[in-house]
Amino acid sequence: MRADIISIGTELLLGQITDTNAPYIAAELPLLGIDLYWITQVGDNRARILEALGRALDRSEVVICTGGLGPTEDDVTREAIAELLGEDMHVDPALEEWLRRLFKGFGLEMPDCNIKQANLIPSAEAIPNSRGTAPGWWVEREGKVIAALPGPPDEMQFMWQNSVKPRLRLSPGQGVIVSRTLKTLGFSEARVNEMVREYLCSSNPTLGIYAKLDGIHLRLTAKAGSRAEAEEAITLVEARLKDLFGRYIWGYDEDTLETLVGSLLREKKLNLAVMESCTGGLLASTITDVPGSSEYFKGGLVTYSAEMKAAFGVDAGMLARVGTVHPDVAVAMAGAARAKLGADIGIGITGVAGPSEVEGKPVGTVHIAVDVRGDASSLSLRLPPRRIDVKRRAVFSALFMLRQRLL
Ligand code: ATP
Ligand code: MG
Repeated sequence: MRADIISIGTELLLGQITDTNAPYIAAELPLLGIDLYWITQVGDNRARILEALGRALDRSEVVICTGGLGPTEDDVTREAIAELLGEDMHVDPALEEWLRRLFKGFGLEMPDCNIKQANLIPSAEAIPNSRGTAPGWWVEREGKVIAALPGPPDEMQFMWQNSVKPRLRLSPGQGVIVSRTLKTLGFSEARVNEMVREYLCSSNPTLGIYAKLDGIHLRLTAKAGSRAEAEEAITLVEARLKDLFGRYIWGYDEDTLETLVGSLLREKKLNLAVMESCTGGLLASTITDVPGSSEYFKGGLVTYSAEMKAAFGVDAGMLARVGTVHPDVAVAMAGAARAKLGADIGIGITGVAGPSEVEGKPVGTVHIAVDVRGDASSLSLRLPPRRIDVKRRAVFSALFMLRQRLL
């Protein structure tokens, strides 16, 4: 079965919002065994929506569109679907009553323009919306389906999960697609590409390489008659990739480094303190993205200047001798964080986020140290020189290093 997604909204074309609805649905379709070949973005223009819908319905069995179901003049998705199918819209009494009751519940009189949200055509059924005023449409004609959902992502996602996805699952699929992502850190994209070359031309599972800030991700995707068969095909190649990458694979699918490191610290009953320079607190912020991190995270010091580093325990003589961006300084920062905050483990990060070099050291230079009860190790990196990415990648490298030390 083939699908088309159409994201409707002039804001998309003006660059004012980014389409997140289409990627959300796109990620779900493989699990239903539905092949997605086209995503279209179109403005709130009836003629152009009609054109996009017509093309989609010609080539696909399932068309999912989002947006343009609001009460205002510029919301014309319903009108375009009705015109495409040559059906007349009428106000559905049950929907009208539901809408009127909704407004009454807010203590409001329903504005006249909202009545159009109670419209249906003979081939359409309403998809309930418990989060807004726009019901969706489930349209079935001649073995094809059009599902129209509202634009706001929370409404769209709720209706997708509860109404559209279950109905699509009932339709006979052509097999199941399963994918698994292996997350690695420590090798460059080119090196990873070389290491996995023999799997790149395999067609089932396919292997994709994606460079992310938290490392290089390897995504295996298999298609088979059943979920079990697809999973078996993935497991075979996955085992070989695990042999190849060993400990450089740090996680799978939805795993994040901060969550995995948090679990390890909790398990080993160890606590952590950090002293950061070039990451400006981002390491502490990332660690505390995990609920319950207070159990193992004592706190952090952002020592952005040399004076602050010295004030919190980094040897001033060393700073004068080697400067602030140096592996020894990272080690001293990790030790000072441990000592000042009374923690089992300290992490120190110093480097040059850019855009200008510091002390003659190039942008992207980062030194990270992890000190576990006085046993310190350090890592020096030269990251691509983009300020925000240097900070983020330094944080992920520090967490990765900590994970290696904890295992
Ligand atoms: P409403 O009743 O809110 O008008 P609607 O179905 O008419 O709903 P739109 O007017 O197209 O939807 O969009 C409403 C808002 O939903 C947009 O301002 C935007 O914030 C969000 N939105 C719409 N489409 C998308 C999309 N494809 N990706 C992300 N956000 C979107
Ligand atoms: Mg709208």
